[in-house]
This record gives sequence, structure tokens and C-alpha cells, in this order.
Amino acid sequence: MFWIEPGSVYVGGQLRAGLAVLVSAADGEGRILEVAPHRDDGLPVVSLPRAALLPGFVNAHSHAFQRALRGWVQHAAGEDSFWSWRERMYGLATRLDPEAIGAVSALAFAEMLRAGFTSVGEFHYLHHQPDGTPYADPDELAKRVLAAARQVGLRAVLLRVAYARSGAGLAPNPRQARFIDAHAEDVLAAVERLRASGAQVGLAPHSVRAVPREWLRGFAGFKGVVHAHVDEQPEEIRQCLAETGRAPLQVFGDAGLLGPGFTAVHLTHPNDEELALLHATGATVCVCPTTELDLGDGFFPAWKVSGPVCIGSDSHAAIDPFAELRAIELHSRAVLGRRNVLPHEGEDGLAAHLIHAGTASGAHALGIPAGRIACGQLADLVAIDTSRMEFALGRPLPTLVFNGSPAAVAEVWVGGRHVVRDGRVPGGEALAREAERALRRLAAG
Ligand SMILES: [Zn+2]
Repeated sequence: MFWIEPGSVYVGGQLRAGLAVLVSAADGEGRILEVAPHRDDGLPVVSLPRAALLPGFVNAHSHAFQRALRGWVQHAAGEDSFWSWRERMYGLATRLDPEAIGAVSALAFAEMLRAGFTSVGEFHYLHHQPDGTPYADPDELAKRVLAAARQVGLRAVLLRVAYARSGAGLAPNPRQARFIDAHAEDVLAAVERLRASGAQVGLAPHSVRAVPREWLRGFAGFKGVVHAHVDEQPEEIRQCLAETGRAPLQVFGDAGLLGPGFTAVHLTHPNDEELALLHATGATVCVCPTTELDLGDGFFPAWKVSGPVCIGSDSHAAIDPFAELRAIELHSRAVLGRRNVLPHEGEDGLAAHLIHAGTASGAHALGIPAGRIACGQLADLVAIDTSRMEFALGRPLPTLVFNGSPAAVAEVWVGGRHVVRDGRVPGGEALAREAERALRRLAAG
């Protein structure tokens, strides 16, 4: 057990001075035992008088291997769109071997920790060898990704993707062979095997494009969280309407998959019926603004939604929870031509609303008891150095959300394990070199 005694603790949407947090263990399984004024009981104390202690941020949507694309695909010559970006992403996805996937994932996960994320929902769709043949261990790549998270100390929920086809009526695309399983039952069997190995696993029917309705119906009643890409691109909505006469979220609803355990990733172009369905079922929306902006997906209409919203860094064009969070409000302002879009009260209310999205809503979407600083919650915690220059003169919470960056993240604990110290992930530089070596070896081979 140990105490963390910061300058202030984020509870009830506010920073409160005079509190400390008692953590049960430093082994990655630690919970919050108490939030109270510190008392001298002989236990070790981490004293951080210049820091604000917040719940760790939750990255609810990630494709870790896409971290290798950063700096290579931010633009292309000639006509460029989501679909041409996807071709280049597939170029990488078909090349990576298990070792490279592990190395790139470890780098992405270390960068998440450094940015203040303490958990990730890894939407994992690279399953097989490049020609589609399963590995000797059919869960080889999922295990590499989970091992990478364990290596750096990030909490991971593996969202095991179901992918059946290229699209309704389309011939198979050989560049998707790594993603595809023969039967819906194969997907559920993989979930069970991975769970039996001790991993936390949810189900991720990739999209209505990639998963037919018969598979979706077979997933109804799944015990655990369900995530899916929904309404990311107008073209995929057109295809869905042509195939089914229904919009994508309605297709998930028809299959019996919507409810509080369902997360619709993106929901960039919802129609009114889909929004009504979202509200009626209590499903969560996961927005990924830095990726959606990069890909030209469009923008989620946050002003139309009152249910839970969480964030993801998706393609990892950037890994920065503060950039994702402020984009929800700022893009709504740009679209609507007015300010004060998201509901809030008081000086810190808007920042608190967005922090809730980045913490408690994300934890709910992943089904983990985290996202708040309260007794019994996982000790996933982030200390923000509010003595930095950018915090001078301002209120700390709005400053953090609207001007914050990973540079302000000083310390991070995941399950009580101290994984970022003084703004650094120990061994992080070595992970970067390791990932570079793995990619160079692939390029040479
Ligand atoms: Zn995605």
C-alpha cells in the first residue's frame, strides 16, 4: 500500500486540495482504497505538491500497428481519400510479421502511457498470415499485442474483430486475407480462447461492410462489450442501404446488438433514426477526432447526442487525449458557428464534461472499473504538472483540456504500477529503436 499526495485531486468534476489517495498495491492490480486527507501511518508516500491527480484517460479505439504509418500517409499525390489511405494502410498490414506487430504495438502503447492514457481498447483485426493461413497458434498476433501492452504496463482490452467479407456482393480482396475468418463461430471461439488465457476480451464486428447480418445475429447475446465501426464514410452507408434498406446502426439494432455495452465508433454521419436508436438503447459513441480529421471522414454531431461519448486515437496520427477531447467541442463550434455547444455548468463544467468523456465514459465502453478517483476503482491515475508555464494565470481544468498536451503529464500509474516517471516511460527510447529495427528488417527482406 502507498499514498499519493498531490496538490489537488480530481473528484466530483473539480480539483480539490487537501486530499490524498491510498492505493492497495503497486503490482498493476492495485485499487483505490481511500480518498482522504493524508495521515501519517508509516506507509510510503509519493508527494507531488505541484501536481493535479486525475483518473487515467481511456483510449477506447486503437489499431496499434497503424502507428507505423505516422508521417508517411498524412497526404498523397493526386486524388486522396479515406479509400486511398486504406490501400496504403493495407500495404503495411500485409507486410508486418508477428515480431514487427509486437514491436510497433509496444511503441504505440508506450506513447499512450506518456500521453496520459492508462488503458486501451485494441480493435484487433490482424489475425492470420498474409495469405490468410492461420498461424500455428491461431491467436498468435492477438497475443503479441497483449504481450506488448503487458510489457509497457498499459491496461488492454482486446476487441477481437470479426471480418467476413470485402463488402456486399464484392469479390474477396486478397489484401484483407489476414482479417477474415471462415465462420462467426470461429470468432467466438477465439474470444473464448483468449479469455481462458486471462485476457480481457470484447467482440468487434468490424462494420456492416465487412460483417453480414447472419453473423451479426449470431453475436446477439454476447457476454461482454461489443464495438463496431459505424457510419464512418458516406459510401459505406450507401452500400448498406442498398444491401439492407437500413442504415448501419439500425442493422446492428436489428441484430439485437445495441445496448449499454455497445460502442459505435465514429458515428460520423448518423441519420435521425440512428440517433433515436442510440438514445433509446444507451449505447456509447467513440469519437476519434484526430484520425477523422486526418482521413476527411467528417465530424460526429456531438450537439445532437446526450448519451455517453468517449475517445480513441484510432490510427495514431496523433496520440494525445487532450487534442481528442477539445476537438469534440471546438469542431462543433466551427460547424454550428456558435460557442458553448456541449452542456455544462460553472467555470470548470465544460472541461469536466470533456474529462468525463475521456475517462469514465471510456472505462464504461471497455467494461473496466476505472475512470474515477473513488474507493474500489482501479488505481489508474495521471498526475498533471500544473506548475508548468502554460498553466500560469488560468484555471487548471479548462487550461488542461483546451491547451493541454502530453508534455504536462508528469506521472502515470496503471493498477498502482508507476509506469511514467517525470514525463518519461522508462525504456521508451529502446522501444522506439526496436520498432525501427523491425520495420527496417521487413523493408530489407
Ligand atoms: Zn478504427
